[in-house]
Amino acid sequence: MQNQMYKPLPSGSVVDFFELAAHQNADGIALKFGSNSYSFKALNNSINKYANYLLKSGVQKGDIIGVVLDRSPQVITALLAILKCGAAYLPIDPEFPEDRIKLMLDDSEAAFVLIHNGLSGSIHTPQSKHLIIEELEAALTDGDVADPGIKVSGNDLAYLLYTSGSTGKPKGVMVSHKNLLNFLLGMKDIFNTDTHTRLLAVTTVSFDIAGLEIFLPLISGGQLVLADKEITKDSKALIDILQVQGINIFQATPATYKLLLQEKWPSLESLTLLCGGEALSKNIADALLQKCGRLFNMYGPTETTIWSTVKEITKEDGFISIGAPIRNTSVYILDENHALLPAGTEGEIFIGGDGVALGYYKRPELTAERFIADPFSGVEGARIYKTGDLGKVLESGEFLCLGRSDNQAKIRGYRIELEEIEHYISKISGIKDAVVKVEGADSLEPKLIAYLIPSDLATLNGGAATKKEVVSWRKELSKDLPAYMIPNGWVKLETFPLTPNKKVDRKALKYKEPENELKTVVESSREEAVLTGRLKAIWETELGVKGVEPDDNFLN
Ligand code: AMP
Repeated sequence: MQNQMYKPLPSGSVVDFFELAAHQNADGIALKFGSNSYSFKALNNSINKYANYLLKSGVQKGDIIGVVLDRSPQVITALLAILKCGAAYLPIDPEFPEDRIKLMLDDSEAAFVLIHNGLSGSIHTPQSKHLIIEELEAALTDGDVADPGIKVSGNDLAYLLYTSGSTGKPKGVMVSHKNLLNFLLGMKDIFNTDTHTRLLAVTTVSFDIAGLEIFLPLISGGQLVLADKEITKDSKALIDILQVQGINIFQATPATYKLLLQEKWPSLESLTLLCGGEALSKNIADALLQKCGRLFNMYGPTETTIWSTVKEITKEDGFISIGAPIRNTSVYILDENHALLPAGTEGEIFIGGDGVALGYYKRPELTAERFIADPFSGVEGARIYKTGDLGKVLESGEFLCLGRSDNQAKIRGYRIELEEIEHYISKISGIKDAVVKVEGADSLEPKLIAYLIPSDLATLNGGAATKKEVVSWRKELSKDLPAYMIPNGWVKLETFPLTPNKKVDRKALKYKEPENELKTVVESSREEAVLTGRLKAIWETELGVKGVEPDDNFLN
């Protein structure tokens, strides 16, 4: 089904729309971070200074620039400055393991990487020149505030974003200026954002939905209230900031809302909540409706640019749907032969229109497999994206999302291809094969469970992994995988159960909570991770030392 109103995309890019807002509302507050506020004029000047510095450093139109920066006004400035240079940004969370950061920078052949001084030493990237943000900042006092005036076209790359890959290697999704602008204008229409908008941004920039949080208020002349790293992890602080800053739009995943709903929270009539990234349950929706003026369920994969369908959820709704396509977007339910299915019949969700990304970076086969020719729109060259989501359309035209047809999973809003974790586990010495499953997907704390076959069956130990094994496997995996991809439970097996057609029968893999000793290991590893994170933050913020690792020795 196509969104009925096709709206021609105006010329220009997100940067042009930001500038327009910046001129119209020069003295209005554009960005707040802690106790600091930046007017549109001040922010635009900083962005221009950054952009001119980047151009002087050799950045060229069309370059891919890695951004490995902490959550701060600098990261917002950097993203817009990169776009103003006609370059594309590759946002990477500095909390990712160094090997994963390197893998993304190497794979993308990023020409430059904007990085903190403290991290630069440990991220060796032969192809990417490091631009140290502290040096850039120091050089800015008398930087050039003139707009570099570089124009981009709709098909130019705006950003490259890596998501988990089922072959064991993350894949880069290429999102164009046309994709991004169409999305943002669609959101502006739906939510009527303007100079009164106050949006609280909590999502890490390495997750595509951060694009809504950063750009939507800025192109609308509204306020972007950027929560710092500590606040994003603290439900009480988030609820406080929602009230203190008079936030009227907030976006989060169901996982975050589940945590927020555990706190006391007055009903905020002027607040619009956007919920997406995972299925929104009726319970959570009902609880959220008590807390806000309006609630929207947002659905869409990174490959079709942030969100592709939207549904306002009301108290009267008997079930939760993902609604209808946004502006210039089509959604189809197809069978295995890519034939349209009638209303009410379950099939796979395909998405077409202006949000369909350019494809996967340097992965032509995978691009051809997932982005196929659009047989429905009649637009030459148009493609539809095969989401891997199961769904159906109702007679009313509303869509339902009914889960996955593959092994992609979501853990606390993070998209994970379970095969990627399996790939790294199978590389660990002493492990022959592994299958990873999510247990308790709907619970407050879903768990990733690794089922593995040891190379030496004599070490089976009745299926129980030893404390030493778990500690060493977790350590090994954390070199390549972020914390949310490291299993919390481990089961050793002689063989995997198979389905009649000889595939691993994941459903037959059953997990039993381990006995006390192992549970303690898992929990203490989790506590250790929290503690390590806190210590790391103290070293970084209080002492200015970046890249501190748990095993570092500070005495020598
Ligand atoms: P990502 O690329 O990280 O945005 O993940 C996209 C996937 O998340 C989709 O293909 C769906 O499987 C899932 N997803 C996103 N939003 C929703 C939603 N509102 N309801 C159900 N599943 C969702």
